Amino acid sequence: MAAAMDHAAPGRDHDAEVDARKTRNALVTRDARETRDAPESRDTLDAQNDRDTLDALELEARPRPQSGAERAIWELAATVVDPEVPVLTIEDLGVLRGVTFATASGSVTVEITPTYSGCPAVDAMRDDIVGVLHGNGYDDVSVKVVLSPAWTTDWLSDEGRTKLEQYGIAAPGPRRSDGTVSLGLGIRCPRCGSMHTRQLSRFGSTSCKALYVCQRCQEPFDYFKEH
Ligand SMILES: [Zn+2]
Repeated sequence: MAAAMDHAAPGRDHDAEVDARKTRNALVTRDARETRDAPESRDTLDAQNDRDTLDALELEARPRPQSGAERAIWELAATVVDPEVPVLTIEDLGVLRGVTFATASGSVTVEITPTYSGCPAVDAMRDDIVGVLHGNGYDDVSVKVVLSPAWTTDWLSDEGRTKLEQYGIAAPGPRRSDGTVSLGLGIRCPRCGSMHTRQLSRFGSTSCKALYVCQRCQEPFDYFKEH
């Protein structure tokens, strides 16, 4: 950068060249990011075909429906918790993806995207969703497991992150609007807040978590892995 500045005469040509370089760099950065953001597990044929038409919303946590029957059904489904981290609801996790209510037939479809495709918690969550809706007068309920786009820790709500910390599990890094992940940063101890922690095992109490230990307060803790 400094070398380029030294011999470049100020003027319009120079500005144009700088602009062209900035554009090239921006394109390179975007390509690199797109490559990095497409892990193999997400790279199914469906994802490839859908990518162009995918609404930006599709890649983010879903908002609650505004009103009506679907809002009411969403709120019931949103009371179901993750059996592995029972302080988190499937809404906190961003696992709850959609609710459809067919007015004529009265049938309900709930869409969920599990945190891992092999997550054994899926069956428990499915049973709980059906259970709570049956208990509230919805007799025809189906739960659809949607694997694409894949779940990401970005979908974890701010409230979910706070609950995780209070539960003693280090939350994954803060969401970033540009889609980058916080590589190389230490994991903060959820008990004393120290950044002096180290990983003991890639897997904690479940495969979704890693086991860490705090070098200040000596407490081992789970870290909810970012992915
Ligand atoms: Zn600590």
